[in-house]
Amino acid sequence: KDSPVAGRQDEHKYGIDTTRPSIARAYDVVLNGKDNFEVDRAFVAEIVKVVPEIYDVATYNRRILGRGVRFLSGQGITQFIDLGSGLPTVENTHQVAQRANPESRVVYVDNDPMVLAHGRALLAENDRTAVVTSDLRDPAAILADPEVTRLIDFDRPVGVLLVGILHHLHDDEDPRGIVEAYMAAVPPGSHLFITHFCASSQDSRDAEQKFLALLGTGRFRTEKEITAFFDGFELLEPGVVPLPLWRPDEPVSAELTVGQRLMYGGMARKR
Ligand code: SAM
Repeated sequence: KDSPVAGRQDEHKYGIDTTRPSIARAYDVVLNGKDNFEVDRAFVAEIVKVVPEIYDVATYNRRILGRGVRFLSGQGITQFIDLGSGLPTVENTHQVAQRANPESRVVYVDNDPMVLAHGRALLAENDRTAVVTSDLRDPAAILADPEVTRLIDFDRPVGVLLVGILHHLHDDEDPRGIVEAYMAAVPPGSHLFITHFCASSQDSRDAEQKFLALLGTGRFRTEKEITAFFDGFELLEPGVVPLPLWRPDEPVSAELTVGQRLMYGGMARKR
């Protein structure tokens, strides 16, 4: 029997398709959430065969998201555009940001309609947060979206989050140009935060290829390629590093596991 392939949800023009796995729902599975279907769980079971550490990787990614948002709040950032935000789960961007500053505003953008359906329930009481169902590959449309212009003041610094998403884009979709378009719209003092699957130089190439074949979209990029997304901006310490090494809350053991090295992250400031 063929393995399920997630593919792009935009093929369904924002309808919820329960017959094919979705990236948002599969990510929910690996975060031990409950907003997923059998088809997503079967899909993750296939991924586990290729990348056994995938549940841990999702946890590292979620943790760095929290640390990054807290760091940005500490820098005085109170506005966030969270691109490819995923389904609501624990410690969502607005919860972390509003704990630091209750006035914080967050726009979540995701092209999976489940994100809107579940986000609405979570955010109903919160007029400083919105969910936009849209494709992040169209920055002009997103930057002009009424919810974005309602909540984000483009004269004040913005945190642009591209966490766990750019590896879903192929080079011919111009991920660098997309990053530039968002960063061009925000003023100096704004920050860019990226996490990304990192291509290894050694043994896991085969697993990477199989994993990507299952995802049906995007690619792993090298540390150098991930770092290049920050070109033109001031890359903050500690640079582009394996997720657990980015401004950790607790000391991290020197020897990282395969799962700990699978994704890299970094943050930069617009001068
Ligand atoms: N940013 C969250 C995090 O790191 O915890 C979630 C990451 S999840 C792995 C990737 C999300 O990006 C999914 O929810 C998926 O639906 C969304 N996504 C994929 N392609 C997208 C696109 N072209 N436009 C908007 N969202 C997209």
